[in-house]
Amino acid sequence: MAEMLREGGVRKPVVVNEELRVLGNSTTLEALRRLGVKLVPVTYGKDGEVFTPLEELGFYEDVAPSPLRVYNSTLELLYRGWPTPLVKLQALSSNGVRVWAKLEGFNPYSWSIKDRIGWYMFVKALERLGERRRKVIYEATSTNTGLALAAMAAIHGFSAKFYIPSSIQKASDTLLKVMGAEVVRVPKTLTIEFVDEVDEAAKREGAIHLNQFENDYNFEVHLRFTAKELELQLRHAGVTPKAIVGGIGTSGHMSAITFYFKNKFNDSVRVYCVQPAPNEVIPGIRRVESGMKWIHWVNIDGLIDVSRDEAIEGAISVARSEGILVGLSSGAVIAGFRKLLESGVLGDGDYVLVFPDHGFKYVEQFEEYLSRKG
Ligand code: PLP
Repeated sequence: MAEMLREGGVRKPVVVNEELRVLGNSTTLEALRRLGVKLVPVTYGKDGEVFTPLEELGFYEDVAPSPLRVYNSTLELLYRGWPTPLVKLQALSSNGVRVWAKLEGFNPYSWSIKDRIGWYMFVKALERLGERRRKVIYEATSTNTGLALAAMAAIHGFSAKFYIPSSIQKASDTLLKVMGAEVVRVPKTLTIEFVDEVDEAAKREGAIHLNQFENDYNFEVHLRFTAKELELQLRHAGVTPKAIVGGIGTSGHMSAITFYFKNKFNDSVRVYCVQPAPNEVIPGIRRVESGMKWIHWVNIDGLIDVSRDEAIEGAISVARSEGILVGLSSGAVIAGFRKLLESGVLGDGDYVLVFPDHGFKYVEQFEEYLSRKG
């Protein structure tokens, strides 16, 4: 996959026989499947080199919105609603610095980036499991994956049970219950701390545990959609970003974005990830040493610590300057980006900030902050 992204195409076609049975280069086939193409270059009977650009294989067709926004189902509303908007933040852009935000709060179920993995992990599990299993899913979640999976469960006639940490806002219980899910509060701070318990419960009770922390479809969906559409949008705007800044929870989206952009642009795009400062809780993101999978598949350029108050202040500053309400992890991304700017490691150029969700879920945190600080 890395080679295809770096070269912008496929060098070795898949070798097939007259019956189109694959004889060779099946790793090419698998890589193309993961990257999401509509066509596959094949050659009859013998190995050879013919370069085929990814664009000719329908690489970007995954990201084809409905221009008039008419959809045949709420599922289509999700995947044909992509790309999520990429917007220039005028108030943050000044002189030679241009700041672009990718607004994942424009996804329909959880109003967050987690709709992507909820959908993809779920449909891939359906393909794999067929009709064999009980139609029940269990997941450990800090809310957003739960909302996305609750939507999938509702649409497909499944029931869902979500385990959420005690540190998360109270409103999450109500939101998840309205979506038809059962909610279990676990007296722990981080979701990752009780994933094994959820796994055991699911095994014991015959439920499906998609496990967002380990499930490689989490990484794959961001490679195939989030990163690809971001690149297409930036190209449309005539922009090659100098750096991309985002938050890490499972590390799915920022790892895939790093993999995609580092390969596609020969390491010229830098990637920085924000994490909560020690002993700080910011819903959706956590410290890298708490254990995450895909971030170790890529090389990021730096980690930035952000406190919860800095994250809230970041979200408030976006609301008061740009008029959009974003969540706390987006506020952390803004705060982290400002720290990078102030430290002088970034010069003039275009920067992309990935804002994972909308701010409506965080009324309790905003309320507490405003009553304390005014
Ligand atoms: N921000 C929010 C609000 C989230 O819900 C999450 C994930 O739960 C993240 C950031 C982190 O995303 P990822 O799990 O892809 O690292």
